[in-house]
Amino acid sequence: MTAERARITVFDTTLRDGEQSPGCSMNQQEKLRLAHQLDRLGVDVIEAGFPIASEGDFESVKAIASVVRRPIIAGLARACRPDIERAWEALKDAARPRLHVFLATSDIHLQYKLRITPDQCVEQAREAIRLAKLLCDDVEFSPEDATRTDPDFLCRVLGAVVEAGATTLNIPDTVGYTIPAEFGDLITTIRQRVKGIENITISAHCHNDLGMAVANALAAVAAGARQVECTINGIGERAGNASLEEIVMAMRVRPDQFAYETGVVGEQIFAASQMLSEITGVPVQPNKAITGRNAFAHEAGIHQDGVLKNPLTYEIMTPQSVGVPDSILVLGKHSGRHALGIRCEQLGYQFDRRALDDIYRRFVRLADKIKKVEDHHLLELIRDTHKPSGSATPLIEPLAPAKAAAVNAPSPVPEPAKPFPMGPQTNAFGVPLPVHGDSRHEQTQQEDYLWGV
Ligand SMILES: [Zn+2]
Repeated sequence: MTAERARITVFDTTLRDGEQSPGCSMNQQEKLRLAHQLDRLGVDVIEAGFPIASEGDFESVKAIASVVRRPIIAGLARACRPDIERAWEALKDAARPRLHVFLATSDIHLQYKLRITPDQCVEQAREAIRLAKLLCDDVEFSPEDATRTDPDFLCRVLGAVVEAGATTLNIPDTVGYTIPAEFGDLITTIRQRVKGIENITISAHCHNDLGMAVANALAAVAAGARQVECTINGIGERAGNASLEEIVMAMRVRPDQFAYETGVVGEQIFAASQMLSEITGVPVQPNKAITGRNAFAHEAGIHQDGVLKNPLTYEIMTPQSVGVPDSILVLGKHSGRHALGIRCEQLGYQFDRRALDDIYRRFVRLADKIKKVEDHHLLELIRDTHKPSGSATPLIEPLAPAKAAAVNAPSPVPEPAKPFPMGPQTNAFGVPLPVHGDSRHEQTQQEDYLWGV
């Protein structure tokens, strides 16, 4: 446990690669807001944009560079003078600027996209890095489509850019093609064969087309990469990039396998995820690891009971460790008595064992019929079961307002006729939901949350 842990640089590209994904474009103000959150999250590098791509991108990079001062701010450029100069123009006021230059190296890209020979590719990469180095000390080079590039040629290009002054070599799996063992081997090959590599940071940039982006990034780290490029919620081109929260939490939950540390503040992860989703209007996949709304939800009764007794029974990390206020217990058909009791308490009612048994029996019957029992059903059921005169178990006063508010139960008074009042604007964590998109859809998602514990 006392062994030294290697520090991994977390390079966040939510504002660049992530922003390129369909439906995820952001305006300058939104990018600035997110950049501040990334700063709070503790990422080491923020790739703020691709300045030559548009006036808006240029202005956003410039604005972020001027106000977000702790992390390194990177700007992307193709391997040519106008791009590099434009990127530098946007970055030059940053406290810690980085020029990120890329050039494709695979045969297929050279032949069909760039229409240049391998020799021309090496020269262009070298010249571009020389120019970048004249402007900025911190220069990253990415051989685009590295995983489909002949390894000999890849090492030749990398050697040339190291000689020209690159300080980080990023190895992109641009098309999401590689698999962990192969990608780890590629990193090992680069470490063995590129001259001068000892003083260079090797980075991994993985895409998720085969669902292996995070596994590939971790394999690269195991093979000696010391920077990972990733995005919040794994957004990015096509199937997305490696997800920041998954990489970071894999390292935290399995330090026995991944003896590395990052500067990421786990408790800020959920806020970052929610903010991104709110800004873009793109909801997080419900079963998304770490940040999905079901990531800490337990529906099966046996799981619910276990979690309530001791979270470690079914949770490998606490929701609090990633900034989620509490586990969510989804009350459905498979819910247990213990979970039902807790939910009643949160709605403001406490019952002794016998009364709870009674309610539980009715709850199970109802759940059989309607599948998902909502708060207003439960309240109705409580009222029916415990008519003031007939019951030996009077309703106990509602819980303190703070606790009730925490579960979004604004009033302890049953209102059986209509759905339990709850603003459609917030989820179970009290976090505002995106205002964009299909509001009816949001509504149904909201109903799931009503059963949060
Ligand atoms: Zn990418």
